[in-house]
Amino acid sequence: MSETSPKLRAELEGIPTYKPGKPAAAGGPVAYKLSSNENPYPPLPGVMETVAAAASSFNRYPDMACTGLMNELSERFAVPLSDLATGTGSVGVAQQLVQATSGPGDEVIYAWRSFEAYPIITRISGAKAVQVPLTPGDVHDLDAMADAITDRTRLIFVCNPNNPTGTVVRRAELERFLDRVPSDVLVVLDEAYREFIRDVEVPDGVELYRERPNVCVLRTFSKAYGLAGLRVGFAIAHEPVG
Ligand SMILES: *Cc1c(COP(=O)(O)O)cnc(C)c1O
Repeated sequence: MSETSPKLRAELEGIPTYKPGKPAAAGGPVAYKLSSNENPYPPLPGVMETVAAAASSFNRYPDMACTGLMNELSERFAVPLSDLATGTGSVGVAQQLVQATSGPGDEVIYAWRSFEAYPIITRISGAKAVQVPLTPGDVHDLDAMADAITDRTRLIFVCNPNNPTGTVVRRAELERFLDRVPSDVLVVLDEAYREFIRDVEVPDGVELYRERPNVCVLRTFSKAYGLAGLRVGFAIAHEPVG
């Protein structure tokens, strides 16, 4: 018998492990996991009723097309069904996007520090992570990110507001940036915290998607809706991405 173990892809060497917030000790005080940005409030009563009712059909596979959710999203955002995709949290959707666009030899650009999942899903795809430091004010340096684009760039994440700094990019600077991105590079606007925005100068990514075929918007039910455990996220993007 040989002493070697099954061979894994070389790209998987040294991928950073995702660090979730520590679970609360059993019987201890109530813990609020700020590092995971979980909503501290319990799910709304209507959600609990719906989930409890759904439990009676867990012997069945779910509707793979998520028909009910897709129809609701299509109506709410006034987007065609063909431009919607759902996933296991928006992290699941982000991973699908990276895998659909980027492989070995390709480049994925994102700000750093930004969301902890970006380096992980980029490395899994085999693409090269191009991390562009935030400005001294901890904001996305969109000029530097545009300067980092090469002919190998396939996808750019813009996390707005940015996790973990809470800073935003506003309409004028984001549009100026998008004008500089070649139309064959996908820009993913990760708007996990969109519902918390009060600054009217921060654009709604869905409006930018309407005007720009290479803009994809990521949203999640995990944060403002307090449904992190249900793992529901979605993307709005033009074909062929959506
Ligand atoms: C929490 C978060 C997500 C979404 O996580 P899911 O639970 O997978 O939907 C996506 N992006 C950022 C920046 C986040 O902070």
